[in-house]
Amino acid sequence: MTPDAILGLYNWTAGTCFRCGDEDFVTPLGAVDTPRGKRYELDACGCCILRLEAERRRYALRRGIQYRPGTLGGAAQDGPASMS
Ligand SMILES: [Zn+2]
Repeated sequence: MTPDAILGLYNWTAGTCFRCGDEDFVTPLGAVDTPRGKRYELDACGCCILRLEAERRRYALRRGIQYRPGTLGGAAQDGPASMS
């Protein structure tokens, strides 16, 4: 799958990437709720999405499980997405 095809699986909007701080087009990866009731939205830019997807692909290869791009941030149909 090409990088463009992977990025095409996500929805993009202007914002700030939570990983690298880039102000660019970002895609929402969900939110984190703190014990004090604050909510932080997590958005990631295209570069970071491709890095995360590459990590997920390597992880899937190592584990012998199927890699499905486009499921970062809780869009996964079968369990939470790997964020690290
Ligand atoms: Zn980024």
